[in-house]
Amino acid sequence: MSKRDYYEILGVSKSASESEIKKAYRKLAIKYHPDKNPDDNEAEDKFKEAAEAYDILSNPEKKQKYDQFGHAAFEGGAGGGGGFGGAGMSMDDIFSMFGDIFGGGGGGGFGGFSGFGGGGSNFSRNKGSNLRVRVRLNLKEIAEGVDKKIKVNKYIKCGTCSGTGAKDSSAFHTCAKCSGTGRVTQVVNSFLGQMRTEAVCPDCGGDGKTITDKCKDCHGEGIVKGEEVIHVHIPAGVAEGMQLSVSGKGNAAKRGGEPGDLLVVITEEEHPELIRDDNDLIYNLYTTFPNLALGCDAEIPTIDGKVKVKLEAGTQPGKILRLRGKGLPDVNGYGKGDLLVQVHLWVPNKLNKEEQELLEKLSTLPNFNKSPRENKSFKDKLKDMFK
Ligand SMILES: [Zn+2]
Ligand SMILES: [Zn+2]
Repeated sequence: MSKRDYYEILGVSKSASESEIKKAYRKLAIKYHPDKNPDDNEAEDKFKEAAEAYDILSNPEKKQKYDQFGHAAFEGGAGGGGGFGGAGMSMDDIFSMFGDIFGGGGGGGFGGFSGFGGGGSNFSRNKGSNLRVRVRLNLKEIAEGVDKKIKVNKYIKCGTCSGTGAKDSSAFHTCAKCSGTGRVTQVVNSFLGQMRTEAVCPDCGGDGKTITDKCKDCHGEGIVKGEEVIHVHIPAGVAEGMQLSVSGKGNAAKRGGEPGDLLVVITEEEHPELIRDDNDLIYNLYTTFPNLALGCDAEIPTIDGKVKVKLEAGTQPGKILRLRGKGLPDVNGYGKGDLLVQVHLWVPNKLNKEEQELLEKLSTLPNFNKSPRENKSFKDKLKDMFK
């Protein structure tokens, strides 16, 4: 299967700047976001494809390799970590990348998301898995920041045994395999020769103790299914796909280990009239020819209600008015975006008799009886353009 060119995927040129690459990826990520395209495999593929392209092109070292060798730079896998996860990449991996593309406060390691009890690697004792929830926000909430109460279904500490997993204290015994240390030494044959590694004891899971008489409510796990209402403060200026992490509010860990984190992923509701472009907002104002020619007051929706804007007499369609500071606050506190009002000419598709007569009369008058092509100054402008 031939792979598409990464630049082509993102729709940028080879000389695109870092911020152009980021912007292009952000656009695609929003367009093909699984929330917006539920059960759409093609969108999911596009979403992954864009993430892969971004992963390579946003990293100067990988980008240089790609520019030099193309996809071959990352093929064969065994080379060791130069490339991308490729086919093995999961949506979780992509979401964990979102944290930095959107500059969100998320950060932090992204732990195992699949169920609970994954935490068996190396020295991590029982650690609860991270949980991810989505929060939908409207533009006003994004503009102002908001406190949300989120009800989360998750594993919580078993109340019967206080999370120990044992029926009572006499049910504990020192683990025979690790003599209570919770760790075992393993000898692994690798291509570098024999290596001794320490790992979590498989028998007791790092506890150093085994349980003979298990708690009947949690079957010795120390955790049960439950729910918790969690308060989350979402700062102003967040964007689609950003991830905030709330430490210790993920799944409880088995038998008294550390709980995982709660990862809150932002989903942005579309505003009926305003379009977001980073921290700026765009409003498309449609108005009539008389309003443009004579000038008028126009009502513009903003996040905090309507404002009046004056259109000067002779305003041309396509003009953009900038309402400073009427956009969204920057999530890192670097000021506020603007509201850009783009002026469009609205032409009625049906005229009544009176309107038709007036327009016909109007079109015989000096300013209206020529096409722009006959207008000398316009012609000169065109000539200038093609010189
Ligand atoms: Zn229990
Ligand atoms: Zn043990």
